Amino acid sequence: MTYSAVPALRHNPDLATAYEPLLAANVYDFGLREPSTKRGLIAGMSMTEKQGGSDVRANTTTARPTGDGGYVLTGHKWFTSAPMSDLFLTLAQAPGGLSCFLLPRVLPDGTRNRIHLQRLKDKLGNRSNASAEIEYDEAVGWLVGEEGRGVRTIIEMVNNTRLDCVIGGAAGLRYGAVRAAHHARHRHTFGQALDRQPLMTNVLADLAVESEAATMAALRLAGASDRAAAGDRQEEALRRLALAVTKYWVCKRAPAHAAEALECLGGNGYVEESGMPRLFRESPLSSIWEGSGNGAALDALRAMGKQPDSVEAFFTEVEQAEGADPRLDDAIGRVRKELADLTDVEFRARRVVELLALVFQGSLLVRHGDKAVADAFCASRLGGDWGIAFGTLPAGVDTHAINSRVWP
Ligand SMILES: Cc1cc2nc3c(=O)[nH]c(=O)nc-3n(C[C@H](O)[C@H](O)[C@H](O)COP(=O)(O)OP(=O)(O)OC[C@H]3O[C@@H](n4cnc5c(N)ncnc54)[C@H](O)[C@@H]3O)c2cc1C
Repeated sequence: MTYSAVPALRHNPDLATAYEPLLAANVYDFGLREPSTKRGLIAGMSMTEKQGGSDVRANTTTARPTGDGGYVLTGHKWFTSAPMSDLFLTLAQAPGGLSCFLLPRVLPDGTRNRIHLQRLKDKLGNRSNASAEIEYDEAVGWLVGEEGRGVRTIIEMVNNTRLDCVIGGAAGLRYGAVRAAHHARHRHTFGQALDRQPLMTNVLADLAVESEAATMAALRLAGASDRAAAGDRQEEALRRLALAVTKYWVCKRAPAHAAEALECLGGNGYVEESGMPRLFRESPLSSIWEGSGNGAALDALRAMGKQPDSVEAFFTEVEQAEGADPRLDDAIGRVRKELADLTDVEFRARRVVELLALVFQGSLLVRHGDKAVADAFCASRLGGDWGIAFGTLPAGVDTHAINSRVWP
């Protein structure tokens, strides 16, 4: 959230000048002090209210101008993570509509801003990150961007934290795949190493394929983000749609993948000291925050509707692999068909977005990935030759080549 706050903050150049170098600093300087006196700052975001997380336009927190360029905010936020942050970007209803504000925890005169921590959430997992319910009781804030354009401003932060969800999701898949492969290499069952048992080779390879596909997509999007920030419009258009699509899919795959990786360790995987329960508890989270599954899928539809250049950029990207694998070509054709008739498209959003995500991953794997991984991906995810659970790859895929990439 700290780094992601920067692009949004630039909508107020004075605030960006004051705080950007400190947000970008590699120093943690904890403690309650006036931000400009610290060597490094951390930032949080505060959007979700009781009545609206996905629908932030329903926010009721108010922002009253004080006449000296500042505002005072009054209201309640139902989720605010990292409440020990120095700065928060938040949304509140100003006279001109829903607007984005920066709130410091300590004011320039050294007094505490009136942001009251009411309770920490008792969460399923994600315990290392505190998430709080907070109250603004005439808290001082400064406008970022124009009044009434709060969502547009803060979305610049959210787009970057969505990329983090994808990167974190891919990292979780990799962790699960590696832990499962390591255990299977060293465990013996029925007279031989577990990773030689044919059915287990299928499970491990399927986990590995998912992990590589997610990593490819995450890194492609990280590159697109850098190039978009440097002014590349084509990459910006690709990122707009492909990020929403990938946020949906990589995060959606995480819980099933974590459960399967955990099971590879048998009963030990269910025991805390294996580390797998922590992975499992964390796994549903990325799909919820920064736009829950349906929110991400609907955001992809919004991108396609409002920014046709994002659709063009998406097809330009995936069609670079055209002709390389008939299963991918066929899937690209199916995407075009799904999008040709937009009747009931909101009802079909998950179907459409899932297919877009698979085609994006498939195209990257076919062009840049390992041959065996790309083949297994195309056969199962695009060719439809698999079951619903992990470990249902079809015969003929090179599980040895795939698995030795995870645990040589
Ligand atoms: C651990 C954790 C930390 C968090 N930290 C922060 C934070 O720091 N700052 C912050 O602002 N928020 C934070 N959140 C809140 C999070 O962003 C919201 O929970 C999330 O955006 C969903 O909002 P909601 O909980 O109000 O659910 P709702 O918006 O009520 O959604 C409920 C369900 O309905 C679905 N849905 C919503 N609208 C539609 C629709 N039109 N069509 C179909 N389905 C729909 C959603 O996908 C979801 O599945 C955090 C949440 C968690 C769990």
